[in-house]
Amino acid sequence: MGKSKKKDARGYVAFECTVCKAELGVSKENYFIQKSKVNNPERMELNKYCPTCKKHTVHKEKK
Ligand SMILES: [Zn+2]
Repeated sequence: MGKSKKKDARGYVAFECTVCKAELGVSKENYFIQKSKVNNPERMELNKYCPTCKKHTVHKEKK
C-alpha cells in the first residue's frame, strides 16, 4: 500500500488568467487545484478556459 505521510503541506492553489492580468490588470482566479507543495514546489501553468476572455488562455499558479 501507499507510503503516504500525514503532513505533506497539501493545499489548494489558485490559477489566474495571464491574459486578464496583462491586458486588464485584474486577477481572475478561475481554477483551484489541490497539490502538494512539497512534491511540486515549482509554479505550474495550465491551459484553461477563461470566462472573462471567453477562450482558453494560460493560467499561472498564484503564490
Ligand atoms: Zn482571462
